[in-house]
Amino acid sequence: MSEKIKIGISSCLLGNKVRWDGGHKRDGYLTDTLGRYVEWVPVCPEAEVGLGIPRETLRLVGDPENPRLVTTQTGIDRTDDMKRWARRRLDALAGENLCGFIFKSNSPSSGMVRVKVYDAKGMPQKRGVGIFARAFMDRFPLIPAEDDGRLRDPAIRENFIDQVFTLRRWRATRGRLSCVALSSISIPATSWCSWPTAPAI
Ligand code: SF4
Repeated sequence: MSEKIKIGISSCLLGNKVRWDGGHKRDGYLTDTLGRYVEWVPVCPEAEVGLGIPRETLRLVGDPENPRLVTTQTGIDRTDDMKRWARRRLDALAGENLCGFIFKSNSPSSGMVRVKVYDAKGMPQKRGVGIFARAFMDRFPLIPAEDDGRLRDPAIRENFIDQVFTLRRWRATRGRLSCVALSSISIPATSWCSWPTAPAI
């Protein structure tokens, strides 16, 4: 298997100007270091669902286990539109052979942990998961996922890379190993900077 490893990523982390204010959240480490060795598959749920750029900000409200995605000023509920779009987008991503996904932290659409969810009094609790991130992780539970904030921790970063290589190796065996066997595979720790010399798979 010689082609680059494919990793999905929240589009704004690549420097694409897709955020609510027309800006981006380019992460130099991802673009300039990891980006040399992987093929990115960018996804921006809010732009791709048709909310426009720029657009009104969104937030999660209600039950942290099953929150609604609502525009901050006008109170329009975008949850159902986002879930419908996510189903179609995930169908397309299923054919991309992704070995990982890097989400933008704190986003009501893309955040994978500790996203603010507002209660009826407008008080936030950091207990939510973005609507698209939740749909992705439910659909692809074996694809390693992290966010840009957590990846600044070297141990989390290394673990993520190990998981990406594990999945890549597993795919290279054409799925002959069971998911149980996958969880028992041991791969030597691979640091970010040793990526180029990692064993061919
Ligand atoms: S955080 Fe997600 S929805 Fe927001 S701009 Fe980035 S990719 Fe788009």
